[in-house]
Amino acid sequence: MERTLILVKPDAFARGLTGEIIARFERKGLKIVAIKSMQLDRETAERHYAEHREKPFFGELVDFITSGPLVALVLSGERAIEAARQVIGATDPLAAAPGSIRGDFALSVQNNLVHGSDSPESAEREVAIFFPELVGS
Ligand code: ATP
Repeated sequence: MERTLILVKPDAFARGLTGEIIARFERKGLKIVAIKSMQLDRETAERHYAEHREKPFFGELVDFITSGPLVALVLSGERAIEAARQVIGATDPLAAAPGSIRGDFALSVQNNLVHGSDSPESAEREVAIFFPELVGS
């Protein structure tokens, strides 16, 4: 079964949308393999978003993702990566389809509530950052 790393970002956590968001993944058929609440330090956030290091919004992105508690999950299922990204919706919430998490609940490109891995390689890398105990399982 494929695995993917999901973050319920600090904006979603602060708005009390954690349960609603996790329920949508469960209803899709994805299974929760691991789940925890935590606050990221800057070093971990910079590792997670390493591919965006050169982008003009990198500093703000790290400020945002470290600004409060978040929930990290590993989900598994058939084509879990693509399935989770469909449930999440496009990066820009105004381009995200109604019925997706971002389409229904977000306005801002930065504060867009959820992260989902975008490839098997990123899923493996991100699971290792948030759940090192799962590596090799
Ligand atoms: P994520 O990686 O969080 O699932 P994504 O794959 O849809 O989102 P990416 O292009 O990887 O989008 O961007 C990572 C995150 O960086 C976005 O979710 C968003 O929070 C932030 N971001 C992306 N583009 C911008 C931008 N133009 N301005 C501010 N923040 C941005």
